[in-house]
Amino acid sequence: MMSSFGYKRASEQDWQQAEQLLRQSKHILAITHVSPDGDAIGSLLGFTHAMRTMGKTVIPACQDKPQLKFAYLSGLNEIRTKVNGNFDLVVGIDSSDLKRLGSIYQNDLHGHLPILVFDHHITNSYYGNVNIVIGEVASAAEIILQLLQRLKIAISPEIASPLLTGLVSDTQAFRTSSTTADSMAAAMILMKAGAPLMEIINKAVVTQPFDNIRVLGEGIRNTKMEDGLAYATISRKLRQELGLKDDRGDGGLVSVLINTHEAKIAAVFTENPEGKIEVSMRSRPGYDVSQVALEFGGGGHAPAAGCTLPGPMRDVVNQVVPQLRRVIAEA
Ligand code: 5GP
Ligand code: MN
Repeated sequence: MMSSFGYKRASEQDWQQAEQLLRQSKHILAITHVSPDGDAIGSLLGFTHAMRTMGKTVIPACQDKPQLKFAYLSGLNEIRTKVNGNFDLVVGIDSSDLKRLGSIYQNDLHGHLPILVFDHHITNSYYGNVNIVIGEVASAAEIILQLLQRLKIAISPEIASPLLTGLVSDTQAFRTSSTTADSMAAAMILMKAGAPLMEIINKAVVTQPFDNIRVLGEGIRNTKMEDGLAYATISRKLRQELGLKDDRGDGGLVSVLINTHEAKIAAVFTENPEGKIEVSMRSRPGYDVSQVALEFGGGGHAPAAGCTLPGPMRDVVNQVVPQLRRVIAEA
């Protein structure tokens, strides 16, 4: 089923405007989305390294710290969780709306600057002055790769590894329905440029800290499976009881749940350190969860979307679950 948001693809004119903005600017603030995943971090770092080869100053930033599993990426420690200084361009990466840039983007400091967006979410709100939004690519990293090809920037291993990390992360190692022949072609280019595919798959997708498994275990224990909807909650209290070091994320639970034969839609409700509830949703082809995410002020793709709501947990579950049931009933 096509998403109700239809087709989004940047035009040749959009690309030319993007290139012009980049050429004009010297000091770039590059921001990726809060609670960053592998595509957020990978496309941010790939963009940062590439722009530096063009002589730009780039500060890569994200409100929240990246996960330690990405330590193999060069420049990871340079990602700032707070920024100051003067910039002449803001670049929003893998982020579907301004809110996703979190506390890094401050209207009083940055409101006068042009915003350039590189994103692949069909729910993108076009918050930039120039928006390179391509709904049909699997990862923001592939859009950054297209940019580098247009600008004829040589792709070093330092650029290729984070971009392949983005592609591998958002496709769960080429297993999602968003994986196309073009994604494979992009992966080939990045491998040939020196990105180590197997190491990246292992570090970004396959191996995980034991604490994740413990979160998974507790989440699976409280999962409800009702008429094709699988859902679970992970509270801060649970994390405290388990004595967990990491204070974010679902440990990969939502992917486990959607991969059960019975599930048409899966959702995990995770209480974050700020006390808000992060809702992570997945669906099988034919069911679009991006609409539900958008209804609640979030966004995403038809098969993978999310939103963040004020708690308490029970209220959020009671609001979101009926909407997910409706998607199943109406399909
Ligand atoms: P995940 O469930 O892996 O956190 O996210 C799935 C997809 O939904 C990703 O593309 C992610 O960027 C998007 N997403 C998750 N949470 C939010 C949110 O609170 N707001 C928006 N706009 N998008 C979200
Ligand atoms: Mn992405």
